[in-house]
Formats: sequence, structure tokens, C-alpha cells
Amino acid sequence: MNREAISKYAKHTIVLIGAICFATALADLPLIAVSWGFLLVIAFSTIVAPRMSLELPRSRFAISFSDAAVFLAFLYYGGPAAIVVAALENLASCLYLRSKGFTISRLMILTNVAINSISISFTYLAWLYIPKLPFVSVVAGTTPHLVSTLGCLAIMQFATSSVLAAIVRSTSDGSSLWVTWKRDCFSSSMTQMVGAGLAGIVYKLIHFGDLLTGLIAFTALTIAYFGYRQSINKVGEAMHQAESAEREKAEVERERRREAEKHASQLTLSLEKEELANEALRKSEKDLQHAALYDSLTDLPNRKQFGDILRKLIDRYKNDPKATFQILFLDIRKFKNINDSLGHTLGDKVLMVAAKRFVRMVNSADMVARIGGDEFAIILKDLGTSGKAQKVARRIFDSIAQPFSLSGNRISLSVNVGIAPCDAEYSTPEEILRDADIAMHYAKEKNSGVAVFTKDLRERFLERVRYENDLRSAIDRNELTMHYQPLVDLQSGGLFGFEALLRWHHNEFGQIPPNKFIPIAEESGLIIPITKWILESTCKQLAAWQKIDPSYRDLIVSVNISGKHLSNDDLIDDVENALAISKIDPASLKLEITESAAMENAEHTISVLNRLKALGVQLSIDDFGTGYSSLSYLHRLPFDTLKIDRSFVIAVGENGEDSEILQTIISLAKNLKKKVIAEGIETEAQLALLQNLGCDYGQGYLLSRPQTRDKAEAALYDHRNWLPSLQNSVTDVTNSVPDNIPAF
Ligand code: C2E
Ligand code: MG
Ligand code: MG
Repeated sequence: MNREAISKYAKHTIVLIGAICFATALADLPLIAVSWGFLLVIAFSTIVAPRMSLELPRSRFAISFSDAAVFLAFLYYGGPAAIVVAALENLASCLYLRSKGFTISRLMILTNVAINSISISFTYLAWLYIPKLPFVSVVAGTTPHLVSTLGCLAIMQFATSSVLAAIVRSTSDGSSLWVTWKRDCFSSSMTQMVGAGLAGIVYKLIHFGDLLTGLIAFTALTIAYFGYRQSINKVGEAMHQAESAEREKAEVERERRREAEKHASQLTLSLEKEELANEALRKSEKDLQHAALYDSLTDLPNRKQFGDILRKLIDRYKNDPKATFQILFLDIRKFKNINDSLGHTLGDKVLMVAAKRFVRMVNSADMVARIGGDEFAIILKDLGTSGKAQKVARRIFDSIAQPFSLSGNRISLSVNVGIAPCDAEYSTPEEILRDADIAMHYAKEKNSGVAVFTKDLRERFLERVRYENDLRSAIDRNELTMHYQPLVDLQSGGLFGFEALLRWHHNEFGQIPPNKFIPIAEESGLIIPITKWILESTCKQLAAWQKIDPSYRDLIVSVNISGKHLSNDDLIDDVENALAISKIDPASLKLEITESAAMENAEHTISVLNRLKALGVQLSIDDFGTGYSSLSYLHRLPFDTLKIDRSFVIAVGENGEDSEILQTIISLAKNLKKKVIAEGIETEAQLALLQNLGCDYGQGYLLSRPQTRDKAEAALYDHRNWLPSLQNSVTDVTNSVPDNIPAF
């Protein structure tokens, strides 16, 4: 059974017993009880007494006049009357309290009423039977009798009602009976005592006092009651005020605490925010530091960090010659082409792949850095000899050559590596990097992949820098001239045209060979303005020569176009411009493009050559046989002439041996329906062979060396035949004009 059920059960039992008590009392109610006095007592206890109870501040105790009425009824009308008064009084009190807003259930009201009925019944029984005990002897009607009666009534009433009330409470809230009695019910003893006292006073007054005494006592009691009530009210009010002041104070304090907590949490929040801001600051500082020292694309150390570390190594080496190191300078070959053809995004990815491969090929103690667009540098630590560095460089060279796929493109990279060993002469990182760069350029020039720096290379480099600077002003200083080498019809010996060959007469160093300055002009980009100048001057020259004789109307001039110029959009304009200035028939101008330059970016070459072809000019593939042409591209290139590289011609012996390649190239040209020209004809045997093979045109020292402008012009006036066998004075004319160029 749960507590609620027990409590309910207890209440119902009490109500039942109370009802029996009440019914018995009603039945036993003597007739005398039905009198005005009794009705007055009932009226007082049900109407007045509930309203007169005085609650003592801060105590569960209230002085009630109803007990006095009950005891008075007991004294005057006997126990059953007191039971009825007690029951009615309790019912009235409960109803009054309910009307004041207290929540008291109906069962609780009945329980209270029953408790009162039972306790008075018990008291009545005690009062009936205690005097019969042998040791109790009090004479009835005396004051001791009254006092003992009232005392007995009060004690019994208190004991019974408090125990019953404790039972009801403890069963409903589960606390122990003793604790509940002590805590909640013991204080009610005061009510019974006061009630008994009051009943005694009233009884005595009615019995033994006269009207005046009664009146005085009543007045005194009334004054005392109201005075007490007023002071209790004041105390109550003061306490109420104090309580509300305390409540307010507590509320203020709570508010303050709330505010303080709020401030504390705000403070925590702002501290957290500050911490976050500091964190972000620290991170951005770190990022900044990182950005200052690392390359954002590859995350490799950048030039600055590389320089810092290299500086320390240089200093360390100066103090300790055993602390050796080697520097590699790496440049990705033709990276510009990758960028141009695949776009910069893929170009970036290619750089990232390259960076990873470089890192994989070195030790963890070594350092790989990105120091420029497609330039990387590596510090190889504790390497004394450049031989070991060369091995590493070769490893890198081979590893980077492994093809890989990127967004569906198959890419194969190649690098040029320059090696600079540590040397006591270096005092800054720039110096050693510059020398590694020089070695790298040498490797590039020699197409060797890897080169080690030597002091000779530096001399070469400085000379190159000097040439480059001087070449810039060579046109203005009239140091550049054109030489013309006749192109001869191998069947008739007639002059077909000239190849224009550039010559540079340096005012200090004299004649500089083309194979020395042309690469410098190409690398520096100077070849473009120089070729523009060549196109204009040779076309103008040809226009003049074509006018010498009607038989020269179809004379052509062949101009060499560098691969660098081919990839530059200005070429078309430059050619157009030269044609416009000279007014020559476009077909009189032939442009020679080396096979290797044409194949470098074949698709682009095809488009440029088609545009040039549309201008009406002729096109020739120069140095054919050295550029690893793909036949499929060869087929698509819109050239008119195929010029066999002189190495194949020179290789032919006196008896025509080693002519297979010549035969192959000539028959290829015939198959492609192109004219074929052979350069480098130096011997009669070579000439005879070429003639036999059906080669259309020829060029070579045997026929004529390149001539100065004046000598070429003189030859034109001469109307000579250029084939040695048909010449009138071969030695006089062809070889009388030395080219003045040492062979390189
Ligand atoms: P290239 O275009 O193949 O020119 C032919 C070269 O062969 C010329 O050398 C010429 O003198 C040489 N040669 C002709 N016949 C013989 C011979 O029988 N035996 C030998 N050993 N050599 C012969 P050069 O003038 O020294 O020019 C060398 C290269 O420089 C040219 O080769 C060409 O690639 C380049 N070059 C010369 N002038 C120019 C120019 O104006 N523009 C450009 N872009 N390159 C030029
Ligand atoms: Mg040429
Ligand atoms: Mg050539």
C-alpha cells in the first residue's frame, strides 16, 4: 500500500470514529444542553471564535477562543454537549479558513472535525473515569476541582487531538510520528491551556462574580484582547515590513549576484574573444612569417630562406673547411611552352609535381627551394666533391624525365642542372647561386642536362653578357651587315637566289661568328628586332638586284627566321612590312625555319606558316634531318623547299660513299612534292652525287662562299654560271671572296 492510500485510510478511519463519537454525543445530549446558553456558546464558537483567533507571529501557534467555548460547554452542559460544540466549532473554523482562501479538502475538514470529536470524547471519558481512581480525591465544586477538571480537559484534549493530527500528517508526508508530533502538534498545547484558563475565568465569573465584576472583567478582557490584537497586528506589520525589506534586500542581492554573474560571464566571454583574437593574430603572424619564408605554391622554402641558410653555410665553411656543401641550380626546360599550351593552372600543378620529385631525390638534411618561376635550387650538405653532386643531379634529371598524366595530358619534363661546389672565395649566397646558374646555362646550351661550374664558364658567361650588351647597339653602330650566299640550280648552274647570312663585325673583337652571337641574340630576344631589320634590308636589296637584268626578275632571297621569332606574333607584321617597303613579289622572299624550331611547337608552327603562306612568301625547312621531324607534321607543314643539312652532304666521301641519307631525304622530298636544296657542297663528288640524285638546288663553298653585298652584286653583273665544270674562271670568282669567318 502506498503512502497516499495509507493516509487516506487513516483519515477515513478517523472520520468514521469521529462520526461515531459525534453521533453518540448527539444521542447523549441532555435536554438542558438545548438552551439559550448552549445556543449562545455554539453561536460564539462557530461565528465569533474563528474570527477572533490571534496568530502569534512567526509561530505555528494561534490563541483560539473556541477551546474556551468548548471547555465552557463541557463545564456547563457536560461532555456530549462539548463534543457537539467542538465538532461544530471546528467545522465553522475550517469553512471560515476556506472562505479566506486556504485550501482545505473536504476530507480534511471532516478529518479535523472528527479529530476534535474524538479528542473531546476521549477527554470526556477521562473526566468520567479519572475521579473514580482511588488516589484521586478532589471535592466537587471547589476551585481545586475546577482547576483539575480544566487541567485534565486541556491535557486530554491536547494529547488526543495532537496525536491524531500527528498520525494524519505523518501518514500523508511519510515523516516519523514522533518528529511530526514534536514539530507540528506540540505547540497546540498552548491553545488548550489558554482555552482552559479562559473557560475557568468565565466559569468563575458567572458562578461567583456579580454583574459589575463580570462587566469589569469582560471590559478588561476585551481591552486586553484588542490591545493584544493591535500589538500583534503591529508586530505582524513590522515583521511583514521587515520581511518584505529582507525580501527586497535579498532580491537586490540576488539581482546584484545575477549582475555580477552576468559581468563575470561577459568577462569570461570577452577574455575568450580576446584569446581567440590573440590566437588569430598569432596565427596570422605565423602565416606571415611562413609566407615570407616559403613558396605559396609548392610550400618549399623560398629564395629568401634559401639565401639565409646558404649564407650560414658559407660562413661555416669559412671557419671549418670540412663543412662542405654543393649547390644545384635547376631550371625546367621549356616550361613556358607548358604554360602556353596547357594554361597556368596546369603549369602550377606541373611545378608542384616537379617540386615533390626534387624533394624525394635528396636527403632530409638537404634543402630544396623554389627560387623563381621554374627555377629551383638545392643545397646538398656534406658533399666534398662535385662528382657526388653530379650523381645526385643525374638522379634528379632521370627522375624528372619520368612521364606523368595531368588532367588527361601526358607530360614529360626535363631539367637543366648547374652545380656549384662550395668555395672559400664565396662570401654571399648570390655569388654561389650566380655560378650555379652559369653552369645551368652551360648545360642548357650544350644540351647535356648537367654541368659543373668552372672558372672558364664564368669567363664565357661574362663574355656572353658583354656580347649581349654590345649586340643591343650593334644595328645602330652599323656593325651588322648581310652576306649573301648564292643558291644555285644544280642542273643548269643558273643563279636561283641568295641566302642572306648575318655578319657582326664587333668594333673591338672584329668578326664574331654567327654560331656565337645568334644564340645570344635568340636568348636575349634581340633576334626579333635584328630579323626585322634583316627582312627590310634584304628585301630592299633584292628589289634593287631584280632590276639589274630581266633574267633576275625571279631571283629570290632566303632569310633565316629564328624559332623565337616564330612564336612571336610580330613575325607576320614584320614580313608584311618588309614586302610593303621593298615592293618585291612576295614569292621572291623565302623564309628558312630550322627543322628543330618548326617541330618545337608543331601545331603553332603550322598555323603561323599557313598565315605566312597566305602572304605569298615561300617557306623552306632548314637543316633538315637534324630535327627529328614527325612525318605526320612534316606532311602538314606548308613549306616549298626542304634544305638538307650540310652534315649529310659533307659526310659524302670522294667516291660517293655514305650517301644513303641524302638519297632518302631527296626521295622523301620528291614524294612530298617539295623542291630540295643541299647546303654545304664542298667537293665535286658531293655535287655530282646530288646532281645524280636529282637534287634541285645547291649551296656550298664549292659553288660560292657567302659574299659581301658588293661582291654578290658584282657577280650578278657578271652573269656567270655557278657550276664549277661550266665556269669560265671558277677560282677567280667563287673563292676569290673569302668569308673571313673562321670555322667553329
Ligand atoms: P644556316 O642557316 O644553315 O646557314 C648556312 C650556314 O652554312 C652558313 O653559316 C654558311 O656560311 C654555311 N655554309 C654554306 N656553305 C658551306 C660549306 O660548303 N661548308 C661549310 N662548312 N659551311 C657552309 P653561317 O653564316 O656561319 O651561319 C651559321 C648559322 O647561323 C646559319 O645556319 C643560321 O642558322 C644562323 N644564321 C646566320 N645568319 C642568320 C640570320 O640572319 N638569322 C638567323 N636567325 N640565323 C642566322
Ligand atoms: Mg639557313
Ligand atoms: Mg642550314
